[in-house]
Amino acid sequence: MSDDALLIRIDQSRADLIGLAQDLIRIPTLNPPGRNYRAICDYLSARLLAQGWSVELIRAHGALGDSDAFPRWNMVARLDSGRAGDCVHFNSHHDVVEVGHGWTRDPFGGELDGDRIYGRGACDMKGGLAASLIAAEAFVVTRPDWRGAIEISATADEESGGYGGVAYLAERGFFSPDRVQHVLIPEPLHKDRICLGHRGVWWAEVETHGRIAHGSMPFLGDSAIRHMGAVLEEIEDRLYPLLATKTTAMPVVPPQARQSTLNINSIHGGEPEPLPGDTSLPAPCVADRCRIVLDRRFLIEEALPEVKAELTAVLERVKSRRPTFSYTIRDLFEVQPTMADRDAPVVRSTAAAIERVLGRVADYVVSPGTYDQKHIDRIGRLKNCIAYGPGLLHLAHQPDEWVGVQDMLDSAKVMALVLDDLLI
Ligand SMILES: [Zn+2]
Repeated sequence: MSDDALLIRIDQSRADLIGLAQDLIRIPTLNPPGRNYRAICDYLSARLLAQGWSVELIRAHGALGDSDAFPRWNMVARLDSGRAGDCVHFNSHHDVVEVGHGWTRDPFGGELDGDRIYGRGACDMKGGLAASLIAAEAFVVTRPDWRGAIEISATADEESGGYGGVAYLAERGFFSPDRVQHVLIPEPLHKDRICLGHRGVWWAEVETHGRIAHGSMPFLGDSAIRHMGAVLEEIEDRLYPLLATKTTAMPVVPPQARQSTLNINSIHGGEPEPLPGDTSLPAPCVADRCRIVLDRRFLIEEALPEVKAELTAVLERVKSRRPTFSYTIRDLFEVQPTMADRDAPVVRSTAAAIERVLGRVADYVVSPGTYDQKHIDRIGRLKNCIAYGPGLLHLAHQPDEWVGVQDMLDSAKVMALVLDDLLI
């Protein structure tokens, strides 16, 4: 029966939840460049301090992106019951991506229309952040005998890698397993889905080398672009078919991402692009450099050295056919794949809560791209971490982004029942 009081309390918080989500959307925490981070941390901290939480505001001094003009502020709030027990942590990023074109609503108006609240960051992920606050607040009020601790963080820069946010906090012990035992990240995976983790990432730059010469006598030079053409052909003919055979048991969504994938992000060769307003013709030169940037997403079944060796094999095959071919590979970025155990307490509690609130069995998914779970896993060494929150993933970063009020309420109920399961 006390569970019912908890769920009733969340239904009664509907207006508060709407107002909270609107207030958060109205603080334009654009990233880049990283605007209003302190303002949103101050807003959240005022709310939580008034309810007896202890709050730390942490600037990620010296982290990637941090500057005096755009300081990377983070907020970590904690409420201790005073009774021994686990700590459940809700982590939301407070930054939002650029507005972009095509909006028919005010991107920072937080307009409520029917069941929807519109705005940049509505679903990714201020709606989830608002739901987690409402869940925690309802839980502590209706369950005065709860145990352990609850933490809520609002962190910077998830959209640009999280180095001024979760990574910075993880390096300082905020996600160490002796402080925090369970983490939920309310990213917009939808209210009936549990996201267990993500695929791995390797970004690399490949450069082919040539020799510059006059374009009217290309035989006197050596074209780095033609060498890169041979590389691309080898990637097309040999590497893509190989990647298609590498499939995973990870339940990645969408299903086309249940294999290894490769994107060629960019290609640059020869003369730089003319500056805007430059009306001159290009100069006739053989290109002596050509570069591509590759974005390889790999599976939990693959090891990163093996992934790297695959690309080296491609380049070596090209080399064996082209006598003057030479290349360099530069590592740009790597993230290991991660996946929480389906038997982890936070996963089981969330699945049971979804079934209770929504009357259907939870879906288990894995994200094709990474999010802050990578830092919690690799730096914090905490495996009991999932993404769970309201909102539809395909609306993230889109014009007229919105979050559903009922979805936020349902997710808040699920989060509150997770607390009820783990902290009673
Ligand atoms: Zn997000």
